Amino acid sequence: MSEFDRLKSDIDELVPDMVALRRDLHEHPELAFEEVRTSGIVAQRLRALGLEVQTGVARTGVVGLLRGGAGKADAKTIAIRADMDALPIHEQNDIDYRSTIDGKMHACGHDGHTSIALAVADILSKRRDELTGNVKFVFQPAEEMIGGAEPMIEEGAMEGVDGIIGLHLISDYPVGRVGVRSGSIFASADKFVVTIKGKGGHAAMPEASVDPIVIAAYIITALQTLISRETSPFSPAVITIGRVIAGTAFNIIPETAELQGTMRAFSKEHREKLVRRITEVASGVASAMGATCDINFIDGCPPCVNDAAMTEVVHKAAVESVGDGKVDDGDVVLTTGSDDMACFLKAVPGCYFIVGANNPAKGADYPHHHPHFNVDEDAMPVGVEVLTRAALEFLK
Ligand SMILES: [Zn+2]
Ligand SMILES: [Zn+2]
Repeated sequence: MSEFDRLKSDIDELVPDMVALRRDLHEHPELAFEEVRTSGIVAQRLRALGLEVQTGVARTGVVGLLRGGAGKADAKTIAIRADMDALPIHEQNDIDYRSTIDGKMHACGHDGHTSIALAVADILSKRRDELTGNVKFVFQPAEEMIGGAEPMIEEGAMEGVDGIIGLHLISDYPVGRVGVRSGSIFASADKFVVTIKGKGGHAAMPEASVDPIVIAAYIITALQTLISRETSPFSPAVITIGRVIAGTAFNIIPETAELQGTMRAFSKEHREKLVRRITEVASGVASAMGATCDINFIDGCPPCVNDAAMTEVVHKAAVESVGDGKVDDGDVVLTTGSDDMACFLKAVPGCYFIVGANNPAKGADYPHHHPHFNVDEDAMPVGVEVLTRAALEFLK
């Protein structure tokens, strides 16, 4: 059997266990930094495969190091990253492995990512003797709140790592396809809060007040012009005000109004420009109308930017795995969603790619973060194969 076929058959053999584990994790979702059961399973499986395991990294993160037996003195190390956390969503799927915990659900596919990375660890550990470098498996907590990657890096997870790869299963991208692209693929995400301080009073005597609700309305409209008038149609960006908090009764002008929004961009420069312009426009409008205004940006996540050389490695692996015709590198790979894989990609050169998991025939066609979200599990062996081939190629 050729090495190519040997890998395919090794993956086929692992599929039942990988799917069973994914379903087990799906039944027992854990939110950000609460991934105690999940990380326990991860650590125990990595130890059983003979990896050097570090637990409690960034609270509930796990790192497993597989040292290649054929490594030279200057052997390289590649990291494979998976996220483990679920979401505060009540699952509405009618499946026999439905979430057993009310109000918590794996509605983004991280149960799949964790199981896929463990399967890759299994396959590569069986090839340890031929492995010409090391593979570091990084299981991060708290991706959904953009809180897990940064502390893992601070605690040394990227030390000695030469490159990093990872994948996201995508429910609106057809199963069997792989999307790989150099440059920006996931957007930055910044939450912002604009607090307008006016002057409260009687709704019938507006001349004695400074109405923060009217000012808030102007600010909402003005902020949209940052996208429609100040952003090139070729550089996508989003500003959404998702929450407006103001007032207590119909006949009272409140003292303050608060706007909460999110801003997405695909480059560091564009992100910085929008942060500056949101601040200038909101304070300018507020001041022009006699109010003051505080703007706070919270929990920012940079864009995911793929390294060209690492992307080439993954692209080659993807073509070997699914064939040239099923690998995309166009706009379909872009998403205005964000992912804190971005932090790892800033720390070391890497490539984050997407694996299609959409299949309406199996009910796997709801958006991420939806109570009916699910993935076609046939996407999982595809993910395993691309990650494995890319790691082997990188370490050559
Ligand atoms: Zn998500
Ligand atoms: Zn996700």
